Amino acid sequence: MRILVVEDEPKVASFVKKGLEEESYAVDTASDGEEGLGMLSLNVYDAVVLDLMLPKKNGIEVVREMRAQGMNTPVLMLTARDTLGEKIQGLDAGADDYLTKPFAFQELVARLRSLLRRGRAEINILQVDDLSLDPATRKVKRAGEELVLTAKEFALLEYMMRNVGRPLSRTTLSEHVWDINFDRMTNVVDVYINFLRNKVDKGFDRKLIHTVRGVGYMLKE
Ligand code: CA
Repeated sequence: MRILVVEDEPKVASFVKKGLEEESYAVDTASDGEEGLGMLSLNVYDAVVLDLMLPKKNGIEVVREMRAQGMNTPVLMLTARDTLGEKIQGLDAGADDYLTKPFAFQELVARLRSLLRRGRAEINILQVDDLSLDPATRKVKRAGEELVLTAKEFALLEYMMRNVGRPLSRTTLSEHVWDINFDRMTNVVDVYINFLRNKVDKGFDRKLIHTVRGVGYMLKE
């Protein structure tokens, strides 16, 4: 899952980015509203953490423009404690939820997870054949045995399990799993698919990770 964080306070931005990366999200940051909108038009994001008070364009203007352009990416708006009127304005403009500063990082993660889950058919534990992944506890099991995955392996597998049966190009995978600093010319996706195969499929007769010739990869039973 790839997240855009639009926040002009460098301390808050780097705290949120670092924390989310530890939770295996890919995170890009923008420091004002215009930059945020620019990045939204160029990249694919699964959710946006949007500060309300921003230079150039504020959070309300950003979310309003996003919705006007037909972008339905979930938005979690960050607001200051004393701006109740602006919270309401933010939600009216199209934000999906808001969080008051200062906030506990775990609260931000919980809100973000619930936004990412919405519209995804209430699935909590993802299951494909005898492979299961629990996004809440981050436990992955194959045939009842727990698999130990790195943060990026987990992120890649989670994205593939949420898109089971769908061929996914290397570009699509990299867009949802890696951040903007990822070099798309490298074979990092292939390398990580190999890591995953070694953990998920090795030693099993039924392979779940398939190569789709000319496209990329697919997870299926
Ligand atoms: Ca701000």
